[in-house]
Amino acid sequence: MAQPTLKITDLVKRYGGLLATDHVSMSLMPGELHAIIGPNGAGKSTLIGQLGGEVRPDSGRIEFAGQDISALPPAKRALKGLARSYQITSVFSEFTVLQNVTLAMQAHRGHSFGFWTPMLKQPDLVQPALRAIEQAGLSHRVGSLVSELAHGERRQLEMAMVLVAEPKLLLLDEPMAGMSHQESGKVVDLLRSLKGRYTVLLVEHDMDAVFSLADRISVLVYGRIIACGTPDEISANPEVRAAYLGDEDMAS
Ligand code: ADP
Repeated sequence: MAQPTLKITDLVKRYGGLLATDHVSMSLMPGELHAIIGPNGAGKSTLIGQLGGEVRPDSGRIEFAGQDISALPPAKRALKGLARSYQITSVFSEFTVLQNVTLAMQAHRGHSFGFWTPMLKQPDLVQPALRAIEQAGLSHRVGSLVSELAHGERRQLEMAMVLVAEPKLLLLDEPMAGMSHQESGKVVDLLRSLKGRYTVLLVEHDMDAVFSLADRISVLVYGRIIACGTPDEISANPEVRAAYLGDEDMAS
């Protein structure tokens, strides 16, 4: 069997007397889109924080592509190919889409700003940037200034800036938050188009999106994974349904 891209074993995070992560174990196989759902306060952000490296677990182990990364800081994890969408903060509004993605490519390569060769004249930077922009569904906006983009398009740009580094694992923390129905539909289409090519861990409140996209879903309640399975298995699980007060909110 193939090696999991991500393997979490017995992860524990305590805040005082509260077990925010209660012996969580899970694996993500290459190419899998795995969603984590759970009520507010279930521990989703804490778990994502531990995977990104911002939150230090009390015990347990995180393996990424077969390597123990439990003690690595966020930047080292990113270099190994673990990408978090929110980490893209350095979007330059006065630059174009292509310039921003090319800059992200340059940063990924570990170069600082080098103005002696104009960035957009370097095919080894521009070509991957154009590919990532296409993957993110933003080709028609290549030359547009970021300040001209709609909210949803800006999210697509952020995704292009993540994809250009060809990450092995994408951690997406509520990518549809604050979006209109139409915009979130675009992100769903985008994630669907990436399916199989990237391994994705998705935390998202939009149940329709989660149930239509995920290969598997893990349900987190009070820091524990109470169920893990396909969307059909999860929506038929009585314990899961009971954990959601608004039972009707769950896709069926
Ligand atoms: P979710 O993302 O599922 O809403 P969180 O991971 O934000 O859940 O929170 C899980 C639990 O841990 C909650 O009870 C929250 O109050 C608590 N918690 C999270 N971060 C901290 C912190 N830095 N200090 C103390 N308690 C925290």
